[in-house]
Amino acid sequence: MRARALYRTRRVIEGAHGVRILVNGRECLNFCSNDYLGLAADPRLAAAAKAALDAGGTGSGAAALISGYNREHQALEEELADFLGRPRALLFSSGWAANLGVIRALAGRRDSVIADELNHASLIDGGRLSGAQYLRANHADLNAWAVALAAADGEQRLAVTDSVFSMDGDIAPLPQLAELCATRDATLMVDDAHGLGVLGPHGEGAVHAAGLGVPEVPVYVATLGKSLGCGGAFVAGSEALIEYLIQRARTWVFSTAPPPAIAAAARRALRIVREEPQHRERLLANVRRFRAGARQLGIPLSDSETPIQPLVLGQEQRALDLSQALFDRGYWVAAIRPPTVPHGTSRLRITFSAAHTAEQIDGLLEGLATGLK
Ligand SMILES: *Cc1c(COP(=O)(O)O)cnc(C)c1O
Repeated sequence: MRARALYRTRRVIEGAHGVRILVNGRECLNFCSNDYLGLAADPRLAAAAKAALDAGGTGSGAAALISGYNREHQALEEELADFLGRPRALLFSSGWAANLGVIRALAGRRDSVIADELNHASLIDGGRLSGAQYLRANHADLNAWAVALAAADGEQRLAVTDSVFSMDGDIAPLPQLAELCATRDATLMVDDAHGLGVLGPHGEGAVHAAGLGVPEVPVYVATLGKSLGCGGAFVAGSEALIEYLIQRARTWVFSTAPPPAIAAAARRALRIVREEPQHRERLLANVRRFRAGARQLGIPLSDSETPIQPLVLGQEQRALDLSQALFDRGYWVAAIRPPTVPHGTSRLRITFSAAHTAEQIDGLLEGLATGLK
């Protein structure tokens, strides 16, 4: 793996996560976080967690079905459901656990899973582990989706897609997918990890922004570790869906409930998302500034209008070299390589936060232009 420039290592952060970050003992500017709204180190979230810690300690003590379901978990589930206009929500300890648990609960060996080829790894693993017939559609290609749906001959069909694709930043054609699923009697499941808090008039995410509700997208998954600055994830949908998952989602049934303090922090984050549109507005203004600057400097852009702005470089070593050149200038942009992205599409995955300033973005642009030369 080393010889093929595929070896991976970690860098150590000291102190808070954020735009200014101390990495391996060096201060630099972070352009590779999913903390889109700058909430991960917001003192209001920490205060909410602290209050919950003081009142209730650290651990939830057990899985939710045994004795681990705390008032904070319940309140967060109710508030998430209310925010999204869905009857119920169910809290999982991670997005990975949610996707694995939901897909395995909804699809079995007699069923079919139809999935976009660029879906998140957790959706891919969920589909594979379910034992269902697994059909991949070319990325965001409606003809390929139609063909795959027609070829799906399982008893039940579960169609699965990211909303905002995590390494490309583009948005799935959700209304068209919903229509296709309706004609084929397939259930549509959308993973909105990068849409929640970012898209939609109040940050309700990509599904809501596309005008779709429970009838069109019965299974909605989003995470709390990205724009909400906490950790964990949830599924939102009908009463029947949530009750079924409580019986059958193995990654939920057999897993310790998240610490109540994290739920308390997520409740505070959700309130900020609802009440303070300025973070989302600043975030999207930052994306526009980056794209306008990149266009001027001749930096090749992808079609993404979201805070995920990939710069595809091809060879693994090219991505590593540009990432290192930027790091030497004080900008941290991680290189993304296979198997996270397909071979020959190694890239810098540049991401934006509401907390970036115009000067910081201009500095990054200059660093990119120099590095590319
Ligand atoms: C991050 C991510 C996940 C996994 O969520 P975790 O809470 O980090 O486990 C799932 N799906 C998508 C699209 C993601 O980007």
